[in-house]
Amino acid sequence: MTTPTEARWLDYAWRVATCGPAHRARCELQGGASARPGEEGNELRWPGYIGRDYQEGTGVLCVGHVHGTNWNDRADSMARPRLEAALREWIASRRSDVADRTYLETVRDVFERWLPSWRRWGHFRVVLDKVGMLEAHDLSVREIAWTNLAKCRAPRGVNNERLTAFCQRDYPIEEVVEAIRPAAVLTCVKNAYEGGSIVRTWRAPSADSLVFTWDGRRGTDRAGRKLRIWAEEAASRIAERRASHHEEPARKERLNKMIPTPPDQPMLPIPPLMPDEAERERRSAAAKKAATTKRRRAAAKKAATTKRRSAAGTKAALTKRRKAAGKKAAATRRASATKTKKKPAKKSR
Ligand SMILES: [Zn+2]
Repeated sequence: MTTPTEARWLDYAWRVATCGPAHRARCELQGGASARPGEEGNELRWPGYIGRDYQEGTGVLCVGHVHGTNWNDRADSMARPRLEAALREWIASRRSDVADRTYLETVRDVFERWLPSWRRWGHFRVVLDKVGMLEAHDLSVREIAWTNLAKCRAPRGVNNERLTAFCQRDYPIEEVVEAIRPAAVLTCVKNAYEGGSIVRTWRAPSADSLVFTWDGRRGTDRAGRKLRIWAEEAASRIAERRASHHEEPARKERLNKMIPTPPDQPMLPIPPLMPDEAERERRSAAAKKAATTKRRRAAAKKAATTKRRSAAGTKAALTKRRKAAGKKAAATRRASATKTKKKPAKKSR
């Protein structure tokens, strides 16, 4: 069974695997390795890896710079031919459940043994070990995903940053983040911080991943802190994020029980007020109350003034007013008397 996360990853991977000739040509102009006899497979583009125990919300996405061309130097000499064959086969057979699964299984099989042998893996291992993700089983990379910012291979000595920045325009990293929604992203690419010269953004609409970047050579973060210092802090934040993801479903279930859902309406859990929101609400209520009190006091004062003034009026004026009032009252009485007389007549018609 392919999970929704795997399905989204496969869609992304397919887009990389079927990279068009225009991008490939530009990649090579920027220094990407070109295919020539004895350098088989450089025409391919590499999506990376997603572990078989990877879960969105708790998994960690690890990001490198670009694949080297020296894969055969690594501990696993079968990694290169197996991955190349799997990718070619996938492209040739096109998408189907069987073809997708076959590719995914081969990638997993190779990466589980191959990835932990990379020199590059060292810094990632320090952080993930502190999170507690590597203790659970020997196959320690099953909960992580891997990708490189550049999807091609590059020979040693190439200006990786220029190549990577170019590749990011067509294959922005947030596409991978959106597909697999990791708890955190770790990258050993020094200048790959948010809005830097390589990555426009790590933020994806459906993910709120923590992002940690460091200098892959020195292990120092942007503030210049050593690996063992920042890794401690990063690990505790990642562990906290993973734990809160597990609490989330329980919290939603509690909310669902409290709020009855009208039929055919999507469930919209009411978000709790943030402390500053609550404070704003309290202040606006207090302000309203104060305004009402002020208005009432002003009205009472005005009424009192009017009363005082009328009391201070001259006797003549008072008499005049009384006479006028008397006349008016008499007129009203007469009018009402006429009206009363007329009424029964109307009714009798
Ligand atoms: Zn590229």
